[in-house]
Amino acid sequence: MTSPTDTTPLTIVWFRRDLRVADNPALYAAAERGRVLPLFIDEPPAAWAPGAASRYWLHQSLTAHARELAERGAALLIRRGDPVEVLAELVQACGADAVYWNRRYEPAAIDRDTRVKECLGALCEVRSFQGHVLFEPTRIATAGGTPYRVFTPFHKACLAHGEPAPPLPAPQRLRAVLPRPDGLALDALGLEPRIDWADGIRETWQFGERAAHERLEAFIDGALVDYPGQRDFPGIAGVSGLSPHLCFGEISARSVWHEVRAAQAAVDRGLFDRAAHAWLRQLTWREFAYHLMYHYPRTVDEPLREEFDAMAWLDDEEGLAAWTRGATGFPLVDAGMRELWRTGSMHNRVRMVVASFLTKHLGVHWLAGARWFWDTLVDADLANNTLGWQWVAGCGADAAPYFRIFNPYSQSRKFDADGDYLRRWLPELEGLDGAAIHEPPPTPGYPAPIVDLKAAREAALARYAEMRR
Ligand SMILES: Cc1cc2nc3c(=O)[nH]c(=O)nc-3n(C[C@H](O)[C@H](O)[C@H](O)COP(=O)(O)OP(=O)(O)OC[C@H]3O[C@@H](n4cnc5c(N)ncnc54)[C@H](O)[C@@H]3O)c2cc1C
Repeated sequence: MTSPTDTTPLTIVWFRRDLRVADNPALYAAAERGRVLPLFIDEPPAAWAPGAASRYWLHQSLTAHARELAERGAALLIRRGDPVEVLAELVQACGADAVYWNRRYEPAAIDRDTRVKECLGALCEVRSFQGHVLFEPTRIATAGGTPYRVFTPFHKACLAHGEPAPPLPAPQRLRAVLPRPDGLALDALGLEPRIDWADGIRETWQFGERAAHERLEAFIDGALVDYPGQRDFPGIAGVSGLSPHLCFGEISARSVWHEVRAAQAAVDRGLFDRAAHAWLRQLTWREFAYHLMYHYPRTVDEPLREEFDAMAWLDDEEGLAAWTRGATGFPLVDAGMRELWRTGSMHNRVRMVVASFLTKHLGVHWLAGARWFWDTLVDADLANNTLGWQWVAGCGADAAPYFRIFNPYSQSRKFDADGDYLRRWLPELEGLDGAAIHEPPPTPGYPAPIVDLKAAREAALARYAEMRR
């Protein structure tokens, strides 16, 4: 702690999606300078403001982060309002001589940060750092200097770029600011729902930086070695489950990268090596998503492939409602949508199947699905969600061709052969055996299919042909 007359440099660290103390470049640099005022600002809603599940996670994540900061000697200050006004007022009130943050890449966040920099620049030093991705999106470019639009060459370019910077240690002690400015209690932000619907999320997840590191360690010691063979099977715990932690910055992509690399170095080559490579490749999809969002910011609302502007999406409100409720009559789709509703997450394979069903069999605009995911996913991430939806809908970078339409029955037989995943989420199909559960006969309590798959597929292909004309 410092006294009110302390003149050592004072930095406000504005936390956003970097709710961690380890490998946090803005916090690290501020702690090196002198006194630190950690700040979170509850901002007025902007485009793609956090949905309900994200807000719930944010509350838990801020709770954990405030604890970490307090243990190091500096309490998290919470304020509400326009960041320019909040920061300007605090800089003057506390005599701060710098404001630091880690960069975000969503178009609305870039606009806001630019405005904050312009407005605060006259008052104090304003500095932003790279801590959210492996490499700054401008660092990876084609030989012609243009952004990548295809994943494989992008991935190769990332590998050729060299290892990401090593993670920074967490500051052991933070020198706080006295007297402490007034702030809001976390509960005052109303991030938690008034009617508690989040028990499924609580049962599934642990929140915060420590939980993120524990999850990573457990994954490295456990499922990682079998990742290539098991990552596509939703009934198996074969993936890391790190996405919400990465999304809120409770752990950095660089830390994750280097911990897997360290494990690779410690274990004999062979199976583990291949598995680690496959998993890091998947992490590079996240990097690719950020690369695309940064270079093509309009894609958060519009298709990257402009010809899709002419697509005749259907206005099927009933179909959309059945999809959101997990009541389409297609077990794999329904299981996924119910998993999402209960846990705030869904296995990647199933995300692809439900997204394909919505955009192709039902012909509903990909943005309607993206918005539902946005509200219900605990890992809702604008870059990854946009990439995922546009990939499935066929309108994005390196997308699945529109004519490749996932058949929910055959996907289910292939990736959940024993029906374990289906039984977990669809108790009404409990009694059906492995073969029948994928394409159930009329079953009490379970809806009949809402579309004829073959006809819906042909209609989707016809819309696509029409668009191309
Ligand atoms: C329609 C659709 C929407 C999606 N929306 C989101 C979203 O909002 N937020 C989100 O984080 N992911 C999204 N994804 C990507 C992917 O489904 C999740 O990242 C993954 O299921 C998270 O589980 P995991 O952490 O266990 O992944 P793992 O398999 O353990 O992978 C490790 C990490 O790599 C990254 N990653 C893996 N696969 C992908 C991918 N296909 N695209 C981008 N990054 C990837 C994630 O950061 C993930 O945490 C979406 C995919 C689809 C098809």
